[in-house]
Amino acid sequence: MHKLSLKSSVLIGACAISLLAMANSSFAQKDSVTLDYFSDIGFGEGVAVVQHPAGEYRNGKTYVSFQGPEEDPYVASYDHKSGEWKGPYRAGISELGKTAEALKNKPDSHGKPTMLIDKLGYIHIFYGGHGGWKNRGKNPLGDSHSGSNKHAVSLRPYDVSAWQDLDNISPNGTYNQVIMMDNGDIYLFYRHGAHRSNWVYQKSTDNGRTFEAPISFLKTRRRSDVAANDSWYAWAAPGKNGDIIISYDYHFCWDREAAPDERGHHGERHNVYYMVFNPEKNSWRNIKGQDVAIPVTRDVADEMTKIFESDELWSFNQSSALDAEGNPHIGIAMGPDSGVRHGGPKSMRHFRWTGSQWVGGHDAGMPDGRGDIQPVSADKVSFLISSRDKKGFGNVSWWDSVDGGENFKRGKTLFQKKGRNFSTSAFVKNAHPDARIIVAENAPRDSKFRNMYLIGDKGAVKRKVVIKPKSVN
Ligand code: ZN
Repeated sequence: MHKLSLKSSVLIGACAISLLAMANSSFAQKDSVTLDYFSDIGFGEGVAVVQHPAGEYRNGKTYVSFQGPEEDPYVASYDHKSGEWKGPYRAGISELGKTAEALKNKPDSHGKPTMLIDKLGYIHIFYGGHGGWKNRGKNPLGDSHSGSNKHAVSLRPYDVSAWQDLDNISPNGTYNQVIMMDNGDIYLFYRHGAHRSNWVYQKSTDNGRTFEAPISFLKTRRRSDVAANDSWYAWAAPGKNGDIIISYDYHFCWDREAAPDERGHHGERHNVYYMVFNPEKNSWRNIKGQDVAIPVTRDVADEMTKIFESDELWSFNQSSALDAEGNPHIGIAMGPDSGVRHGGPKSMRHFRWTGSQWVGGHDAGMPDGRGDIQPVSADKVSFLISSRDKKGFGNVSWWDSVDGGENFKRGKTLFQKKGRNFSTSAFVKNAHPDARIIVAENAPRDSKFRNMYLIGDKGAVKRKVVIKPKSVN
């Protein structure tokens, strides 16, 4: 079996990586080869749902970001008309991925890039943080772990080839999520540190050139009943009429020595919560329209914003979006605690607001997988999920419901490979139907790098790679 080995060359000055000559002799007689992946340098997890969006479509091109060698962020673009790819180029240098541990192929992977294209066309990425290094000094809004959250912007509009860092966000951030409002204001959401940290947002009114100080909206706090802290995992997304919607779950952050079983501190997460932020009025409310004071503590979250209590189930928050009537639908992976560190397999679950109550949360037939949600109406909702089936195929498939989430059936499979797994991004912002999500295939045994795919309704977006560049006279 031939493993396709693209030799990537790093151009230090320009911070570029390009796909160049093919090393594999089986291609030596050809001028070019068409690949179904756009890059072979995905590293660690590559992409995940929470760092979102990781890509954006604008003016005929899809711009994508992912984590590459040494956990640095990489950005590429695809021209839907010409079929031409540019990049990926290294867009910044992450402080994660440079440690002895990371270099031993144990990546931290929490600083995967999040992308935004501003009103003027400059491309921004937020990357590299997992709470900030512990020796940096006290995190004012929580605890620390590793890395430095950073913000880089393209030197020129719509050009992925050259970048500069802007030192204007907190180094303690992780799980960046970014939203641009209709007026161009940018809201950057993230957790301000390691597990025991508040979730915050920072606002920019000048296309990301400066950001206001972080505002906390979810609060970490010491529990009074047991030796643990309140901790949160949030998803922020555009709502309607200038709202931003937030869905989240609760992490029971046990002290290492006080945890209820030998797993010690682990990934115990429960419940589903939902609230709405209106930036213009600077107000927060629950689904019933009642004001919610920030930063939201566990007491307030439980009383005002809780959708579902999942004592028996452990959760892994995914995403949320509004249907055409403006009612929220939420996707969250849930499953019984099977005793392993992170609790075991979790199937995708669906919740929606009917206008008067929350429904859903049952196992409606969706797989153990990760993905993003696309609600259409009260009845019609779909997920695009990356998962592995019983026959050993890794699939990127639609899962559709036409009865309001009571039942989901597997719909069209956009991409499939036997013996493979895929980690997936959230939807590309404003996605072209041919380029809906970015996925990272698991690395083959003899490599630490992963093939990266851009997937849409026609499967993977192809990339033609020239093997022997034509001589130039
Ligand atoms: Zn924790």
